[in-house]
Amino acid sequence: MGGFFSSAELQLVKQPQITVPRCGSCGLDKLCNSPKIKTIGRGKRKVLIVGEAPGKDEDNEGAPFVGISGQYLRNALVEIGIDPEGDCWITNAVICRPHTDKDKNRTPTDKEVQYCRPNLFNDIARLQPNVVIVLGAVAVQSLIGGIWKEEASEAIGKWVGWQIPNHKPNMWICPSWHPSYLLRSNGDPVLARCFKQHLENAFTLKEKPWKESPPDYKKKVKVVVEPEKAAEIIYEIIRKKPKLAAFDYETTTLKPDGPKSEIDCCSISDGEITVAYPWYGPTIKATEEFLFDKEIGKIAANMKFESRWTMKQFGKKIRNLVWDTMIAAHVLDNRSGICGLKFQSYVLLGQPSYDDHISPFLRSVKQGCNEVNRVKEIGLKQRLLYCGLDSLLEITIARIQMKKMGISYE
Ligand code: SF4
Repeated sequence: MGGFFSSAELQLVKQPQITVPRCGSCGLDKLCNSPKIKTIGRGKRKVLIVGEAPGKDEDNEGAPFVGISGQYLRNALVEIGIDPEGDCWITNAVICRPHTDKDKNRTPTDKEVQYCRPNLFNDIARLQPNVVIVLGAVAVQSLIGGIWKEEASEAIGKWVGWQIPNHKPNMWICPSWHPSYLLRSNGDPVLARCFKQHLENAFTLKEKPWKESPPDYKKKVKVVVEPEKAAEIIYEIIRKKPKLAAFDYETTTLKPDGPKSEIDCCSISDGEITVAYPWYGPTIKATEEFLFDKEIGKIAANMKFESRWTMKQFGKKIRNLVWDTMIAAHVLDNRSGICGLKFQSYVLLGQPSYDDHISPFLRSVKQGCNEVNRVKEIGLKQRLLYCGLDSLLEITIARIQMKKMGISYE
């Protein structure tokens, strides 16, 4: 660490939002018949539909979704009682046709998606949709990649079907497959039914997800660096005897068995009080009392991890460990790549990404479960805030999961 800021904190300094498309770098407008195809529709239901890019037919006619894929989408909308151009606005993530030769369309490159992204965000700012339906990996990459994480497009399969209560802009994001994928699937009836269901579900959302401003989870986390004060708050939680409370460790290695393995900090949240604190002094004893309280049901995001570190630290098993958000996510939806806390926090709560600046420091430089990571290079308050958010989001997600499963502990 050098100067006033840790290297992780320096990475928090955001690049200014680019609001002008970079057509000069992109150049697709010079290679097509209809450059910069405009968004169409009257959007009476305040739903914006975003596809991939214009194909040959769209380029000839100068309008989005007029080719064979467009017809598929329009038919599906009409079947569920939606007037495509009366009820919706329709556009693409990239608004000039990418092609390899006169007849052959191609998927836009990641760079082209980034260059054109400001067009989509400017449309959203102008139209203020309640719902944005993103069709296919490119549309997901453009929208969710611009809001949440750039690698959002990695697998469209994990995105389809969610109704994401996005914070900024305040709107629902509803991903599904691109109609061209359904056409390539030779009329697979299950896919076709799911696609229509995704559209139908999106049109049930009549208002924006947040009437006023979305919750600011960061503000709910008490970051307490003084161990005595933190211990007092932990005892306050224990005295309250909440039916449920989540806890989370940050550690210097993945597994607790190396010579340099240690717990760096911890957090506890009952949903009302969330406290994050460094692992020393009276906080350790207070945490032990919390973990072995028989009445408080404990929640973790990866129970194996927390259990193993607890066993190493205190030599006994956590009492009344009732919920693992990762396992519950898998029980509810067995797609791969969706069970992690950060993904669940975004799709269920719209929580913006909060680990981009932290995650490189949580990975060890060398491969291996007992190799030391760089967590201590992050400023103490930053890592406590990150740790506290984990606990608070764990309990919030656990409650949603329990509701979905019809299980009640409270
Ligand atoms: S695709 Fe977008 S960024 Fe590229 S030239 Fe056309 S409008 Fe500009």
